[in-house]
Amino acid sequence: MSPSPAGPPAVEVRGLHVSLDGTPILIGVDLTVVAGEWVTVIGPNGAGKSTLLRAVGGLLPAPQAITLFGTPSTALRRRDRARVVATVTQSPVVPPGMSVLDYVLLGRTPYIPPLGRESTADIEAVHEVLDRLDLTGFHSRELATLSGGERQRVFLARALAQGATLLLLDEPTSALDIGHQQEVLEVVDQLRHAHGLTVLATMHDLSLAGEYADRMVMLADGRVVATGTPHEVLTERLLATHYRASVRVVPGTNGPLVVPVRPRRA
Ligand code: ADP
Ligand code: MG
Repeated sequence: MSPSPAGPPAVEVRGLHVSLDGTPILIGVDLTVVAGEWVTVIGPNGAGKSTLLRAVGGLLPAPQAITLFGTPSTALRRRDRARVVATVTQSPVVPPGMSVLDYVLLGRTPYIPPLGRESTADIEAVHEVLDRLDLTGFHSRELATLSGGERQRVFLARALAQGATLLLLDEPTSALDIGHQQEVLEVVDQLRHAHGLTVLATMHDLSLAGEYADRMVMLADGRVVATGTPHEVLTERLLATHYRASVRVVPGTNGPLVVPVRPRRA
């Protein structure tokens, strides 16, 4: 979808500083995600990608400098925020003994009145999303009995069932085989087009990242070091500088594909 220039951006981050235990983790980060856009944050381990997503998702205490659809993040109450933004973190907390159906139903919490029960519409929304993610037949399974890939799809299902317009996905495909990686990213992209969702993701697989992103942001040591189209960000020079990686960049379908090659001996 071509991003709509009208209306406030889905995400606006201006000069974000985050320190954890006294250590600066994000240093003056700027980021804009236009409504309807898919932006993927890349960067080496420890660059601050997860911290950035946690800040945008309101999972860090009151970060200033963040606006979601024109509303300062700090002005959003928990329940209102949950209707706007859904997050899949890298290692979600799994309540012990919980079934897949009950876990995904948690995504409907912002729509269920306090002390009320889920409606037929809530149950239908959950079933639809489980079917889309190839999880039909898993409804009554305990989360703990699933494979890593199955569990990852359940985490995504919960976020999608939440019906938020902004999806924050922290390495949504890292536990998946190559087929399920594509399947999950295709589902997200189809839902993005069908429902006008905005996606802000982090991904380790750079080729896959470039195939799905409209724009990419590269973080290194807590700072934005590059931003632009996949072709502008996935360059041999930037990957050598910030990942210390020896790669070849070859044409792909949307973005370039990044192929690791052994460094030449000195
Ligand atoms: P990425 O997702 O890019 O791998 P993270 O955002 O998870 O990076 O972490 C960025 C840096 O912040 C890392 O150096 C990590 O060790 C540090 N960090 C993360 N959480 C904490 C914390 N609670 N206290 C101190 N340092 C932290
Ligand atoms: Mg991370």
